[in-house]
This record gives sequence, structure tokens and C-alpha cells, in this order.
Amino acid sequence: MAIKEPRLRSLLTQADRNAAYGKNAAAEGIYRQILDAAPEAEEAWLGLAEVVSDPEEKRAAYERALRLAPETPAAIAGLARLDGRPVPPEIAAALEAAAEPEELAPAKVEPLDGDEDHATAIDVEADYELYCYRHPERATSLRCYNCDRPICISCANKTPVGYICPECQREAEDAFFNSKPLDYLLAALVSLPISLLTGFLIVRFFSGGFLFFIIIFFVSGAIGSFIGRITKRAIGGRRGRYLPALVVAMMILGVVIPALPILLAVLTGSVGGLLALLGPGIYLFVGASAAYWQMR
Ligand SMILES: [Zn+2]
Ligand SMILES: [Zn+2]
Repeated sequence: MAIKEPRLRSLLTQADRNAAYGKNAAAEGIYRQILDAAPEAEEAWLGLAEVVSDPEEKRAAYERALRLAPETPAAIAGLARLDGRPVPPEIAAALEAAAEPEELAPAKVEPLDGDEDHATAIDVEADYELYCYRHPERATSLRCYNCDRPICISCANKTPVGYICPECQREAEDAFFNSKPLDYLLAALVSLPISLLTGFLIVRFFSGGFLFFIIIFFVSGAIGSFIGRITKRAIGGRRGRYLPALVVAMMILGVVIPALPILLAVLTGSVGGLLALLGPGIYLFVGASAAYWQMR
């Protein structure tokens, strides 16, 4: 099966180039990397057969390629050479025809080390376009600094140390958010009663009068901060992705439940009810923001 995935294609080209340079060890590493991901890739088995030195390994790789793609001339010729048999003329002709179009000659003017240093791979990546691992159709030159996979500009997040892919970003965040599932229950159990109590007091006593609006504005921040802080302490200061939102939801419940009769009155057209909701509305807006920031 021919390789179609752009990333593996680009790896294959890289491996072939290394092989053409005589960097067999580097080429072998890349072929094996391809085969890990695509064990059916006969092109990689063929390449591997050409660069490994052990005759048994060579044979196994040629045979594998031949099983995957019967009558592959390169594999037939390789096996013939291993057995010391002459390469059949029609196979030799097919090989010669196939060798022409593919230009694997070194593109860079760079003399090779005489001592056949196989250890260092040639970095030919820059010559080849990478493809975003989340959008295989998008060419890119960026890589995630953490996992080294290519990512397109819309997937990449810039960080002080380089670009990071969404998966690695998520992992980093998961390490940051250290809450346990029980923390959510605990946070709700702590913040809901307080929110209900303060919500009731606000709805009961602060639903009218201009002076109250001013007082409410200042009191709300303090109440929200208090709810956030006491909830955070109850869960041991741990952080959770959705914990701030949970506390905000509890504060909303804390106002909506005691304000239900007023809400129903508003629904039936009571203008006075609407005014009565102004105070609790301000409280909720200011208080919930304060609690949210405390929980972060
Ligand atoms: Zn990554
Ligand atoms: Zn992408």
C-alpha cells in the first residue's frame, strides 16, 4: 500500500534522501519510524532493505515488501543479489526505467564527510513542506515545541518558548487544574447555602430604593469575594476548569430561587417587579464576577 499521509510521505522523502547521501543509520531510523505508523508501507520496507547491513534483515525486509506489493522489481532484484543469482533482464530493465524520474541526487552543495558518518541525519526537512497533523491539507512550517508535530498557524498557540499544539496545551492546562471530581460537589455544597442566604437577604431587603442600589454595589463585591474565597478554602485551594462557573451558577440560583415570585410577577407584566429585580441584578453581576475571580 503506497503511503498517502502527507507526514509519512515527507518522512519517506527524508529517509530516501538520507539513504542517497549514504547516511544509512539515519535513513534506517526514519524508515522504522514510518513502519511503526504504517506497517503496510512497502516503500518503507524496500528502503529499509537497502540500508540495513545484516543480510537476514535485508532479506526479511525485501520479502515483506514483496508480500505487500508482489512483483516489485526492486525487491526481486534485491533478493536475487542476496542469493547471488543474476537479476532477470526484464527486472533490470524495469528498475532502470523506474530510476529515471526520481531525482534523489543531493540538492545541496555540501561535501559528504569521508568517514561515512551515519550517525547524524541530514536535515532536509526545511526543503519539504510539513502538514498540520490536525489539518492534513494545510501546509505549514511550524511545529509544536512540545511534541514536535507540525501544526498550522490557526492551530498553533504562541507561548514564550515557542508554538504549542492544542493537545499539548490541553495537557499543560490539565496539569494546572488539579481539582478532584469531589471538589465540584464540595464547592456546590459550600457555595449554594451561602448564595441562597445572601440572595434571600438581597431580594428581601434590597429590592427598592435608590440608596440601596449604591450600597448594594459595594456590598456585592465583598459578598462575592467572600463566597469565592470560602469555597476555594473548602476544596483545599485546588483549581478546576469549571469550578469558577459552578460557583457563579450557585450564586445565580441563590438569587433566582428567592426571587421566583417577583420573576413570575414580571412575566405577567408587573413593572414594579422589574424594578424590584434591579438591586438583585446588580448584586448578581458584581458579586458573581468577584466570586469568579476568587475561584480562578
Ligand atoms: Zn504538541
Ligand atoms: Zn491545523
